[in-house]
Amino acid sequence: MHPNLIEENIPLAHLHTFHIPVTARYYSAIASQEVLIELLRDKTLPSLPYIVIGNGSNLLFVDDFPGWVQHITIGGIEKIFEDHQHIHLRVGAGVEWHQLVMWCVERDYAGIENLSLIPGTVGAAPVQNIGAYGVSFSEVLEELEAVEIHTGKVRKFTKQDCRFGYRDSIFKNDLRNQYIITNVTLRLHKKPKLQITYGAIQETLAKMEVQTLSIKAISDAIIHIRQQKLPDTDKLGNAGSFFKNPVINQQAAAKLQEAYPSLPANVLTPLHDTAFKVSAAWLIEQCGWKGYRRGDVGVYADHALVLVNYGQATGQELLTLSTDIQASVLQRFQIALIPEVVILPLPQTTLKSPDYDTRTPTL
Ligand SMILES: Cc1cc2nc3c(=O)[nH]c(=O)nc-3n(C[C@H](O)[C@H](O)[C@H](O)COP(=O)(O)OP(=O)(O)OC[C@H]3O[C@@H](n4cnc5c(N)ncnc54)[C@H](O)[C@@H]3O)c2cc1C
Repeated sequence: MHPNLIEENIPLAHLHTFHIPVTARYYSAIASQEVLIELLRDKTLPSLPYIVIGNGSNLLFVDDFPGWVQHITIGGIEKIFEDHQHIHLRVGAGVEWHQLVMWCVERDYAGIENLSLIPGTVGAAPVQNIGAYGVSFSEVLEELEAVEIHTGKVRKFTKQDCRFGYRDSIFKNDLRNQYIITNVTLRLHKKPKLQITYGAIQETLAKMEVQTLSIKAISDAIIHIRQQKLPDTDKLGNAGSFFKNPVINQQAAAKLQEAYPSLPANVLTPLHDTAFKVSAAWLIEQCGWKGYRRGDVGVYADHALVLVNYGQATGQELLTLSTDIQASVLQRFQIALIPEVVILPLPQTTLKSPDYDTRTPTL
């Protein structure tokens, strides 16, 4: 084994935003593509279950992790192309997403300002196609590079290859746990197309008395809104939205509207003719969970989609709360809530589930 690269029995509480005090049997902080390839091709490593992590802001550990945690810390922001309209940036997977947004806002490179203050790393952004305030990561991706875990081979993915959807990509489906993203290339705009129609952006810009609209003003407004709405993960453990907003068909949407004639406009968003996105926060609030607390776990009082660790919660307690919420929403609305957060590790009996993998990561 590589004693300098693979550490044993490492506490993970500070490496994920729920701050559950679990440990990793093995842990590596991986700062370059070369080191990653060397580790993946090392035939002397034992066969271990593994998980790739960035900042752990979308993970819930319900127990110690029995295998190898591969923490991607690859840095670097490099300008690789520029013309009068666009700029292409190649960014290391371990760069903090918000740090990248700030870097771009400072230089007036537009496209990701609406994604300000989303925690996490650049490498995780394509996995669930992060999105907020009317913008998704997929809109700015030019291509990305990833290393195949079982061969150590590098592969490039175009936007089409990634098969992006709402909080979804090929890396959560067909290629789940098969590739480690090492860098992404973003295509940003010099002539911004500002997106301010979503949520409370306009209202906040007005309150902030913004005279001239700019990407800096939009970023500031979104940071302000998010700081009001979401708990600071350093003070209150959480992973942002615990569930995805469910997508329902026309028939189910009509039923919901009939049962709730005064449904707020933002609860049901048409995606196309036959599919509607429902606000999971509204469903959870209707079931009386907003502000609920049980021991050290609860539902954040200002945002029903955010489950929180008040200090000493266990992952199992958070998981139980999440399944109780799912059951009550299902019973009342016949709508299934699906976690957005990745739950780890899965029970031993389902070790071969795609959520993580028992196959050896060596050749
Ligand atoms: C307060 C708060 C607010 C949030 N708001 C939003 C929001 O507005 N919109 C939104 O979309 N999300 C939001 N999130 C969720 C989260 O920030 C994103 O999912 C983020 O992309 C996770 O990044 P991470 O580095 O922490 O990934 P992790 O949580 O470490 O990992 C998440 C998943 O990505 C995989 N992964 C991580 N790095 C790599 C890599 N290099 N290669 C391959 N797979 C990898 C992991 O295996 C795991 O499956 C929020 C979270 C919090 C705590």
